[in-house]
Amino acid sequence: MSRYWSPFVQELEPYVPGEQPAMADPVKLNTNENPYGPPPSVQQAMRDAVDARLRLYPHPDGGELRTALADYHGLNTDQVFLGNGSDEVLAHIFLALFKQNRPLILPDITYSFYRVYCGLYGIDYETVPLADDFSLPLDAFPADNGGIIFANPNAPTGLAVTRDDIAALLERNTESVVVVDEAYVDFGAESAIALVRRFPNLLVTRTLSKGRSLAGLRIGYAVGSPDLIAGLDRVKNCFNSYPLDQVAIAAGVASLRDETFFENTVDAIISERDLLADELRGLGFRVLPSAANFLFVCHERFDAGGLATALRERGIIIRHFERPERIAGWLRITVGTPEQHQVLLDALRELLKADNKAP
Ligand SMILES: *Cc1c(COP(=O)(O)O)cnc(C)c1O
Repeated sequence: MSRYWSPFVQELEPYVPGEQPAMADPVKLNTNENPYGPPPSVQQAMRDAVDARLRLYPHPDGGELRTALADYHGLNTDQVFLGNGSDEVLAHIFLALFKQNRPLILPDITYSFYRVYCGLYGIDYETVPLADDFSLPLDAFPADNGGIIFANPNAPTGLAVTRDDIAALLERNTESVVVVDEAYVDFGAESAIALVRRFPNLLVTRTLSKGRSLAGLRIGYAVGSPDLIAGLDRVKNCFNSYPLDQVAIAAGVASLRDETFFENTVDAIISERDLLADELRGLGFRVLPSAANFLFVCHERFDAGGLATALRERGIIIRHFERPERIAGWLRITVGTPEQHQVLLDALRELLKADNKAP
């Protein structure tokens, strides 16, 4: 706190990202980064983009990358909005579309940034509790609302809803904007992008950070009706005209052209995820069925926070959320490489054995 801060900032509650540890060579399974890639083709495209053209401002709307994304999804360019990571896209969504007279609706357990944006922009919200099995009860979302947002697959549970469930929600909820955050959709959920033409109030956000292994570059986007996209453009143009730099634009285009690398690495993550889930169940963990690149787990005999700390001492970083209370007993483990999983499982076996010896 500082007396120089505005009263508004004194009250702000910022998002706390998972740590980027300073230790040498950690087994880093805490922020859902993709261990494979980015592919050589993307790295080459970035090197090729570094020349005298950098003296020019980039295209304000993402230029070539916007066109490439529109083609990729079979949409028009006026249905695509780009931002500096999907976090920035989400920020603009909250201000452009969710600052309404009625409250925004979101699940009680979901990506915690949503509440942070509500705080930043002074947006009222109400939460809908996930079911006991952590599934998302879309039919329990109240009709009278100023907007709806959820992640599919959800974070940090990894559970997904079907496209039909989302379509049913959109059939009922026609008066406010519904945002589906598809940060993890590449790892197994059904995308709602196919519904964008049918429902003018649907906006889908995506990122190149997870499936495409480009978290360090910050490329996110939203697709929806031209109406919604124009609203986002208005806010963007009041904030930062050039959210994506030329090198990132080149990398994004190259990433979309390298489908083989993308598909192979996503397949590898999916099969490693399922193997790791089996191993963890074998050690007595309860593991939610994940459609994402992470597993959400708990263990009867372990305090989740204590386990995360014990692993950290061994150079293995996973994520523990103290809040909401309902998930304080759970841990989120990013799917890594087979080698990383081996280190994790060996450490867990050791910790379990030590625990068994206790009186
Ligand atoms: C990682 C993540 C994001 C943010 O992605 P960036 O594009 O890296 O900003 C958004 N939503 C969810 C649910 C995420 O997990």
